[in-house]
Amino acid sequence: MAQVSDRNTKEGRTRKTPASSRNDKRRSTNGSASRPSNKLICPDEAIHLVLGEKLVRQTRAVPLTEACGMQLAEPITADRDFPAFPRAMMDGYAVRVSDAGRTINVIGEVAAGSEAPGSVETESCYEIMTGAPCPPGTEAVVQNEHVRRDGKRVTLPGRIDAGQHIAPQGSECRRGEVVLQPGRTISPLGVAVIASCGRESVRVIPRPRLAVITTGTELVSTGESPGLAQIRDSNGPMLVAMARDMGLQTPSHRHADDRIDSLLDALRQNAEADIVLLTGGVSAGNYDLVPKAIEDYGATTIFHKVNQKPGKPLLMARKDEQLIFGLPGNPLASHFCFHRYVAAAVRQIEGKATDQQPLRGALIESVRRKPTRTHFVPARAARDNKEVGRWTVRPVPGVSSADIFASCHANCYVEVPSGGGLIDIGEVLSFTWIGNAPWPN
Ligand code: AMP
Ligand code: MG
Repeated sequence: MAQVSDRNTKEGRTRKTPASSRNDKRRSTNGSASRPSNKLICPDEAIHLVLGEKLVRQTRAVPLTEACGMQLAEPITADRDFPAFPRAMMDGYAVRVSDAGRTINVIGEVAAGSEAPGSVETESCYEIMTGAPCPPGTEAVVQNEHVRRDGKRVTLPGRIDAGQHIAPQGSECRRGEVVLQPGRTISPLGVAVIASCGRESVRVIPRPRLAVITTGTELVSTGESPGLAQIRDSNGPMLVAMARDMGLQTPSHRHADDRIDSLLDALRQNAEADIVLLTGGVSAGNYDLVPKAIEDYGATTIFHKVNQKPGKPLLMARKDEQLIFGLPGNPLASHFCFHRYVAAAVRQIEGKATDQQPLRGALIESVRRKPTRTHFVPARAARDNKEVGRWTVRPVPGVSSADIFASCHANCYVEVPSGGGLIDIGEVLSFTWIGNAPWPN
C-alpha cells in the first residue's frame, strides 16, 4: 500500500479519456436506452438503476448453522406430525375431566422423552412434565400450581377444561406439509423449524461475495506510520465492517495504486466476487482512473455521478454477473454510498426486501437546503419525548462533508431535498437508520 505509484506512466496520462466517450457506453443492463452523458441522475433514479440489476445466482447447500439470514431455495417439509404426540404443555398431572374437585391416586410419572406404561383412568392420574407425551386416556393437564399433593394422592381443582395444557398431535403442522416456502429469508426461528424437520443442511441462495479495493497512493494501512502527506486507510476497514454488519462473512480487501495496470490487476484478482467496491479515484482528479479501469476491465457503466451530497462521483457498473461500485474516496461519501446503494444491491442479491420505507422525523435544528442537490445529512434521531411515536432528528455538526469524527456519532441520514433556503425547526424530513440503529450505543 505504501508503494509510490509512477505518476508518469503511460496509464497515468491516459486518464484524459473524455467523459463523453466513457458515457457513450452507459446503459442499463436491462436494456434500457443510454442517457445523456452530461446529465446527473437523481438519487432516486440511482437506486432504481441499482435495483434494476438482477444477478443470476446459483443455489448451494449449506450447513443449517450457517443458513441464518440467507434466502431459502427449497421447500421445507414436515417429516412427522408436530407435535408427533399429544404433548403436555405444563408440568402437572394428566387427568380425566370428570375428576375435577376430587382427590385421586397418582399412579406414575411421565418425564419428557419417556412414555407412560399405562393409561389415565377415572380416579387415577400421571404426574407429567412439560414436553412429555400424554398417556392414552388423558383429557387435560392440570398444572402443579393448581393441585394439592399429599404423598401418592392429589386433589384437583373444581374446574378442569377438556384439552387444557395439551398440544394435540399434528396441531402445529402435519407430516408432509410445506412449513417454509423457498424465497423466505431464514430467521433463527426458521432455523429451529428446519432443524425440527431433521435437516442438517439446506439449499440457499448464498451470501454475495464482496470485495473491497482501496485506491490512492497516499494511503498506508492502519499499522503503518503515515508520512506527512500520507493518511491511514480508513475506508477499507470501514467498508469491510459494513459488509460484515450485513452478515457477509468474508469480505476481502486489497489495495491498488492509482495506475490502470494496478487497478486492472486488483479487479481481475476479484473476478469471483459478486460485488466489487472500489473506493477513491472515481471523480475528476488527475489520478482518478477508476472509471477508465472499469471500462478496460470490460464492465459496462450503468451510471456515473449522482446529484447528491455526499457521494456525487458514485459510479456503478456491471460485468456479467458481477456488480462494481466506484465509491468516492471521501470516507463519509463512501459510507453513505454503501449505506444507500451497496446495501440495497446486497439485499436484492440476497432476495430480501429492498423497499425500506424511510421514517419521518421533526427537525430540532434548522438545516439549509442545497440549491440543486439532495443532501443526506448525518444526524441523530431520537424518540420525541412530547409525542409518542414521533421521532426527532438533529443534524450532527461536522466541520466538512468528510468529517468522520463528527459523523461517527450519527445514527441516521436525513434527506434534505434540494431547492435552496432554510428548513425550519419542526419541519418533518425523511431519515434512514445507519446499521443497527436505533439501539442505543
Ligand atoms: P479520491 O476520491 O480518490 O479523490 O479521494 C478523495 C479523498 O478521500 C482524498 O482526501 C483521499 O485521500 C481520501 N481517501 C481516499 N481513499 C481513502 C481511504 N481508503 N481511506 C481514507 N481516506 C481516503
Ligand atoms: Mg484517490
